Amino acid sequence: LSAAKLLTEHGIKVLVLEARDRVGGRTYTVRNEHVNYVDVGGAYIGPTQNRILRLSKELGLETYKVNISERLVQYVKGKTYPFRGAFPPVWNPIAYLDYNNLWRTMDDMGKEIHVDAPWDAPHAAEWDKMTMKDLIDKICWTKTARKFAYLFVNINVTSEPHEVSALWFLWYVKQCGGTTRIFSVTNGGQERKFVGGSGQVSERIMDLLGDRVKLRRPVTCIDQTGDNIIIETLNNEIYECKYVISAIPPALTTKIHFRPELPPERNQLIQRLPMGSVIKCMMYYREPFWKKKDYCGCMIIEDEDAPISITLDDTKPDGSLPAIMGFILARKAHRFAKYSKEIRKRKICELYAKVLGSQEALHPVHYEEKNWCEEQYSGGCYTAYFPPGIMTQYGRIIRQPVGKIYFAGTETATQWSGYMEGAVEAGERAAREVLNSLGKVAKKDIWIHEPDSVDVPSVEITHSFWERNLPSVSGLLKFIGFSASVTAMWIVINKCKMLHRP
Ligand SMILES: Cc1cc2nc3c(=O)[nH]c(=O)nc-3n(C[C@H](O)[C@H](O)[C@H](O)COP(=O)(O)OP(=O)(O)OC[C@H]3O[C@@H](n4cnc5c(N)ncnc54)[C@H](O)[C@@H]3O)c2cc1C
Repeated sequence: LSAAKLLTEHGIKVLVLEARDRVGGRTYTVRNEHVNYVDVGGAYIGPTQNRILRLSKELGLETYKVNISERLVQYVKGKTYPFRGAFPPVWNPIAYLDYNNLWRTMDDMGKEIHVDAPWDAPHAAEWDKMTMKDLIDKICWTKTARKFAYLFVNINVTSEPHEVSALWFLWYVKQCGGTTRIFSVTNGGQERKFVGGSGQVSERIMDLLGDRVKLRRPVTCIDQTGDNIIIETLNNEIYECKYVISAIPPALTTKIHFRPELPPERNQLIQRLPMGSVIKCMMYYREPFWKKKDYCGCMIIEDEDAPISITLDDTKPDGSLPAIMGFILARKAHRFAKYSKEIRKRKICELYAKVLGSQEALHPVHYEEKNWCEEQYSGGCYTAYFPPGIMTQYGRIIRQPVGKIYFAGTETATQWSGYMEGAVEAGERAAREVLNSLGKVAKKDIWIHEPDSVDVPSVEITHSFWERNLPSVSGLLKFIGFSASVTAMWIVINKCKMLHRP
């Protein structure tokens, strides 16, 4: 839709063929009397996501800050630990060194990965052979840091550390601005939401485009053997055009018949990019009872039996409809999908009662959920992931046009890929590729820098002297080992000297 909007502004005739009976895809604002509106798909935006901020502002949308005025909580080994800030604090000095080294190492490794060509990184081949689990197990000495790092992967990419390439995950975090930016609420990816819901971005573009958006038109065939490209839809309609922008998740292109066939590498790439797994759950209460305990509603939950791994306050900006949003992620999305909605609701309430230490959590007034694994026109969410070996072998194909077919969709972005921001970057870039081919935009202007949002400015993320210089656990052990050997040698030498004294 962002591609169609930009092309229309350049006087190009466009047609958007949408498979579903609604626009928005992986964003979806559900409206009903219980919730007023709720984002059951993509929702959060934040500083440095300048394209979606610019586009939504132009469309007349406003954002509000997600509530984190009160304390966040971490639930680990059956206990609740309140805290403030982006990451839970660590009191054990060895664990502290381990965590500090984990974030520092991931960000440092990211420094050698270019966001637009991760496959060219000096260690690309080595890191792409590893899973994130391999890398985490290599970096972390303590079980606590290791477990938290696994959760960090689950939360950010809705998949398991053993499923994803280390190169891909390091690239993913890097192109979101690093470990702190991707995970933070304040000054990070989860800082804000749209008043009225994120679905309005697509709905308002559809309003602008009018009958140039056709719903319930799954594309089944793209034939570019003739002068014009012929498109066929599932309901047997035929459309003719000069260019195509495919803005669907790569794996879903396997449902489309191409004439001529796709080049071999693209044909193989699209079979190798699975989608993540997530169920988004919103629990509504009469009162925001968590605030009575000075909790903001954000819970980071480390418990294998718990359905939900992370929550945020989902109360409306005017304080109405108190709610908690929680994600069931990766392996747990499959495990908990087997239960009925009622049982899932009960299990989630029991978990919140335990973590927040309040029986009020057991008495919700309403529950909404969306399992994205069942969506045939998404295939899963939030985004596609690269298993080991795929980024270096096929990664460079991701944005390469095939004849007059250009590729958009958040998976093809280079900043905040996997997010709404990435979808806008990709759509506008693909539109400018078409404009370039039509001679309306210079090649150098296909990729343009987006200025920082004035309304949602970003604050640079900095690290303290100690965060930069404290040793890792292995560094400390080596130092202790070395110091012990030097001391032992010094004692031995002195003893020898004493023995040989005349
Ligand atoms: C639970 C959840 C939470 C998320 N959280 C966030 C968040 O907080 N912040 C954030 O920025 N992002 C978030 N995301 C991710 C974000 O929603 C996506 O990255 C973004 O919406 C992707 O946009 P897209 O246009 O690239 O793809 P899509 O939204 O998938 O759009 C592709 C469109 O193509 C259609 N389509 C598919 N196949 C065909 C076909 N054959 N013919 C015609 N049409 C077809 C689909 O119906 C869809 O409308 C989340 C997603 C989910 C599901």
